[in-house]
Amino acid sequence: MNKNIELAQLLFPNNKYTVEEIEKKYPKRKLKKGAQVTRFAPSPTGFMHLGGFFQAIIDYQIAKQSGGVFMLRIEDTDKKREIAGSDQIVMSILTSHGLTPDEFEMKGGVTMGDYGPYYQSERTEIYKAYAKKLVEQGDAFPCFCRKTEGLLDVEEKRKKKFAVGLNEDKDPCRNLTFEQVAQNLKDGKKFAIRLKSKANGDGKVTLVDVVKGEIELQENGKDAILLKDDLTPTYHFAHAVDDTLMGTTIVVRGEEWLPSYPLHKEIFEVLGFEQPKYMHTPLIYKFNDKNNKIKLSKRKHPEADMRFFDSVGYPKDAVLEYLTNLANSKFESWRAENPTASYWDFPFDAYNITANTPIFDFVKLDDISKEIISKMSAQSCYESLLLWAKENATETAKYLEKDAEYVTKVLNIDREKPKPRKDICKWSEFFDLFAYMFSKPKKFEVDNKKQFEEVIKNYKKYLDLSSKEVWFDKVKKMSQELGYAVNNADYKKNPQNFKGNVAKVCEYIRLAITGQQNSPDLFEIMTLLGEKEVLDRLDEAL
Ligand code: GLU
Repeated sequence: MNKNIELAQLLFPNNKYTVEEIEKKYPKRKLKKGAQVTRFAPSPTGFMHLGGFFQAIIDYQIAKQSGGVFMLRIEDTDKKREIAGSDQIVMSILTSHGLTPDEFEMKGGVTMGDYGPYYQSERTEIYKAYAKKLVEQGDAFPCFCRKTEGLLDVEEKRKKKFAVGLNEDKDPCRNLTFEQVAQNLKDGKKFAIRLKSKANGDGKVTLVDVVKGEIELQENGKDAILLKDDLTPTYHFAHAVDDTLMGTTIVVRGEEWLPSYPLHKEIFEVLGFEQPKYMHTPLIYKFNDKNNKIKLSKRKHPEADMRFFDSVGYPKDAVLEYLTNLANSKFESWRAENPTASYWDFPFDAYNITANTPIFDFVKLDDISKEIISKMSAQSCYESLLLWAKENATETAKYLEKDAEYVTKVLNIDREKPKPRKDICKWSEFFDLFAYMFSKPKKFEVDNKKQFEEVIKNYKKYLDLSSKEVWFDKVKKMSQELGYAVNNADYKKNPQNFKGNVAKVCEYIRLAITGQQNSPDLFEIMTLLGEKEVLDRLDEAL
């Protein structure tokens, strides 16, 4: 028998399946022309990174807009790093943003799709079959060096390589004889499986990346690990096996994987697989207070965790639109031309994804969010606010339920109009922004105390909320009587003749009522507060 076949049998005597059996279970997908199959493949580390979600949007859009398939694959082979419940977090963030995968599996729940299991930890027998095949071909070998047992420290390994004349990248175990391997196994030593790289690492390989275009990289020369010594796969090996069997046509992944591409190319080659297309997406950065670009990290930035946006109450559409805007420069002009269109109508173009570093910026997110909230009806604002409060601020939720009608009216100030006010960007801000609608203003500054007092004292007599016209006519009447200009042109011509103009009078009234210099429509505010409360506030201001 061929020595390699014998070796493979020695290493994997009990494999459940052969490669041929496996490949029968994963037939080529029947796709219509141009349809793309993408997958989002997070490791279960306890949260969903904003950058991961950014990739998931791209995956979803490419699949949907081409009439293809979007899969969720949980890459849970590193059991030491796994945090229970991560899969549910990912799934709930995807579905609640409308990015429901076509194929996925939930532990103990449903499985959708015929290309599973969709947890890598359930695919061990598949990886073992392909590892055995590579050993049979002479393209992989067992390695018995275990860092943890101190069997071979770095220096020892170096000496050993030197002795057998190996290049730095090659592993000395590649030269073990069949008998040595058999002896090690007999001694109960664990083994990993390494690629027996044929290249010397000096050449170049070219990748035509969907985002970055043509890139030249140093070829692989390393005897990289394919199966770890617990026989679970490394990312590199699992990527080649899974993306081939599952029929992925475009791999969208972070650019941190770019340097591994030459290794992946070699692994695909020895496996006899065709490589998918690749789209390496840029990582998301942020400016720090010294104006340096730094990677968005969970440790430093709460917004790196997707749950942050829900917890402070950004609408999900705002986060989607913001990230799409960050990914695709064409989104902004499309939105300007189609202000009322659904986000899902945007013709997402995979070839238009930015290759530049995306910079996360709250100002832009807030603007997008304000725009979205400004177009919502008061009723749907109320419902969103309540939903947010129920999950994040239970006392507030109780109040909102008790005073639903009043809160909805407050939310309706300057809303449901052709030019609605754009002030709320997240629900957690609502009670700060509209504090004066719920309690009397505490403290405020006025530029001229004497004039302020005169206006407020008099205004008590002129207060009339019967209609907006009447209300304003009375404000004007009082202004005139107190020596303020009612006509702005007159005021501009001869400012010395007046104490100020009617706008100044309104500013004083606004301060007394809201404690702020700017506010939405003052008449609406006063009407909602009611005459008694307004009079109280005027008194209190004095
Ligand atoms: N589990 C890998 C990660 O989270 C997936 C990379 C990929 O999409 O291929 O980085």
